[in-house]
Amino acid sequence: MTPHHHASDELLLAYAAGRLDESLALLVATHLALCPHCRAEVERMEVLGGTIIEDLPPAPVASDALDVVLDRLDEEWEGPPARSRMEKIEDESARMLPQPLRDYLGGRLNTLKWRKLGPGVRQFQIIPRREGIATSLLRIAPNTAIPHHGHGGSEHTLVLAGSYMDETGQFRRGDVQSADDELTHRPVSGGEEECYCLIVADAPLRFTGLAGRILQPFLRF
Ligand SMILES: [Zn+2]
Repeated sequence: MTPHHHASDELLLAYAAGRLDESLALLVATHLALCPHCRAEVERMEVLGGTIIEDLPPAPVASDALDVVLDRLDEEWEGPPARSRMEKIEDESARMLPQPLRDYLGGRLNTLKWRKLGPGVRQFQIIPRREGIATSLLRIAPNTAIPHHGHGGSEHTLVLAGSYMDETGQFRRGDVQSADDELTHRPVSGGEEECYCLIVADAPLRFTGLAGRILQPFLRF
């Protein structure tokens, strides 16, 4: 099933141009594995990038768009490095992970060292936090609410299994939600199965409700 909520054009363009950092590149690559619509978009952007190069006049022309294309030629991006490609798949449950993420996790899911964040919520940090960017998997029990929170910066969520719902809509496998500091929400996971999400955040979440403030010290995404 094609996802309903896609990666933004901004993300796809930056991905096509090879300009995303490791964390967001992993998130977009994982979405693309699940989304024919965005795969076609990225292909179109890449073809467009190639056409721009072919149409270039002999004299250099300075523009941002051009820089993007030129950078792309300089550094052909080959996808996020697979850290544990050699490890065999140990976890049956990891098979639901799209390839880019499965490679990243060495085919493990249940045997990862999950950290308990609160009732029904566990977290695994995929990439060590650096330059304020946090990359983690969240595993949320069915019908569980994440306390009401806002965002100090941007936060991108990709649903891998199950679903959740917030004030803006419902998100299922393959869907991406990009939140900025304007969004305050209270996501609740669906009742059908555990919800797994890949989350890339560039600032800690700010909790607004009382439950959230109590939880805040433990929730370091
Ligand atoms: Zn998409």
